[in-house]
Amino acid sequence: SKSAGRNCFTIYDEAMSAELEARNTLEGDLRDAIARCQFELHYQPFVDVTDGGRRGFEALVRWRHPSRGLIPPDQFIPLAEEAGLIVPLGEWVLRRACADAATWPADLMVAVNLSPIQFKEAELFEVISAALRDSGLPPERLEIEITESVLLERGVENLAFMERLKSIGVELALDDFGTGYSSLSYLTAFPFDKIKIDKSFIRNLTHQPRSSAIISSIVTLARGLDMAVTAEGVETREEFERLAALGVNFAQGYLFGRPQPVDRIEFGASVQSSQ
Ligand code: C2E
Ligand code: CA
Ligand code: CA
Ligand code: CA
Repeated sequence: SKSAGRNCFTIYDEAMSAELEARNTLEGDLRDAIARCQFELHYQPFVDVTDGGRRGFEALVRWRHPSRGLIPPDQFIPLAEEAGLIVPLGEWVLRRACADAATWPADLMVAVNLSPIQFKEAELFEVISAALRDSGLPPERLEIEITESVLLERGVENLAFMERLKSIGVELALDDFGTGYSSLSYLTAFPFDKIKIDKSFIRNLTHQPRSSAIISSIVTLARGLDMAVTAEGVETREEFERLAALGVNFAQGYLFGRPQPVDRIEFGASVQSSQ
């Protein structure tokens, strides 16, 4: 049912029992926040470079703190990971994102970020399939974004898990490509559909010829492996045109839209740039 993603009380007993220990700390606040459902997903569009058409949205979590206002994920995801709270939070994100996307036009995907910590959970596959089943979202419309650090540890188990997700139709993207321990062997060993080039490479694109060279090699490599390439952090028309010339498949960034609450997104027509 559509309300499934909103129900965050029943599954968080463990998080709640430790609540008293951690009062007056951000961690304590975070436990409360999970019990009270103080999180929101904002959605940022990504577009197909060839026609500028919107293909889907990435779900990005925010914490609506009662006194501190809207807290960005970089300020609480690491804490949630340390405290083990990323598991219930991550499950909420998955359920909410699938439930939201199930109400969108059927040609739009939703991309969800998974923390490396979630990969250590034996039930992750069941969590994802339950989110799909309960929301009614076809698996083909869900894309899971993971970072390289996931591939470093437990590579064999994670490969099996990824193959399992692919077998039901879920897409896989390698996020923040180029920032980590980037070994190209990861690209050949794991079944990614898409590589997301980190925004740090896009930032200097129009000034630094080296960035163009890097992007162009990633595109060539990805083509050889039958993977698509997304450029993230695209802010200007100039960058977009450069990326199009370099053969990038998808683009995401402020040029096409900032992350926004779902009720502010216009689903009427698949139109692209806001500029
Ligand atoms: P990310 O997955 O690399 O997400 C892209 C980040 O770049 C987002 O920051 C987005 O708002 C920002 N961004 C998008 N377009 C532009 C642009 O044109 N210019 C610039 N300068 N920035 C742009 P945000 O929302 O603050 O998220 C930060 C990170 O937090 C994400 O990086 C992701 O690693 C993590 N995160 C967000 N939501 C979740 C989640 O539900 N689960 C997990 N595990 N991590 C999440
Ligand atoms: Ca991401
Ligand atoms: Ca990224
Ligand atoms: Ca990131």
